[in-house]
Amino acid sequence: MADIIRINDSSWRIEDGFVRFFLLEGSDTALLVDTGATCPEARQIAETLTDKQIAVLNTHSDPDHVSGNGAFRFFMMHYEDEPYYRLQGGQGMMMPLRDGDVLDLGGRSLQVIHIPGHTPGSVALLDEAAGVLISGDSVQSDNIFMFGPRRDINEFIRSLERLKGLKDKFSVVWPSHGAFPAEPDLIDKLIEGAQQIVDGKVTGTQAEHRDTPVLFYKFPYAGFFCDVK
Ligand SMILES: [Zn+2]
Repeated sequence: MADIIRINDSSWRIEDGFVRFFLLEGSDTALLVDTGATCPEARQIAETLTDKQIAVLNTHSDPDHVSGNGAFRFFMMHYEDEPYYRLQGGQGMMMPLRDGDVLDLGGRSLQVIHIPGHTPGSVALLDEAAGVLISGDSVQSDNIFMFGPRRDINEFIRSLERLKGLKDKFSVVWPSHGAFPAEPDLIDKLIEGAQQIVDGKVTGTQAEHRDTPVLFYKFPYAGFFCDVK
């Protein structure tokens, strides 16, 4: 059973075990950002919190972010994550997101920032007026999955460099996993850690994720699961 926690007058985080998703309300419409890992009732939960019409946007297509999508006819996602979404049997009509898109919920604007790396179509949402960055899995203090064919750690570093360059526009990060909220400085630390992995300056430990051998790199601020080279 998911836990609902109010963040402010018009934002909630819904904690679904190891992952969280968000409901953001504007004066016209509401937006569900992701739909959890084991939460087919995500829409019903959102409907208990707002009487506005609810749209859904996925930060990316990993299965722990889309479990409640089936209750919606339409969903928003960056088009580069659609193939994997369909591969998993993902339903609904996609309204493709592109970098720079602005969603207006009514007195509340969210800018879409394409941050490939964790997945090809990962996005962050910037609510500049509130000073909030919603970061999906790409900025968080838990373990970041960087193994498998869809993921690219060099692209991840470039994306985080871009977020770092936007740090004067937000003062807090709302991540999908790990501690809530996160500090913007976590972005700098993740860049440093990922770069050390790329440069071979740190040693990973052998681990397994669902029968796939991976290398685990643990830093004080987060961890990375990477391909075995
Ligand atoms: Zn996730």
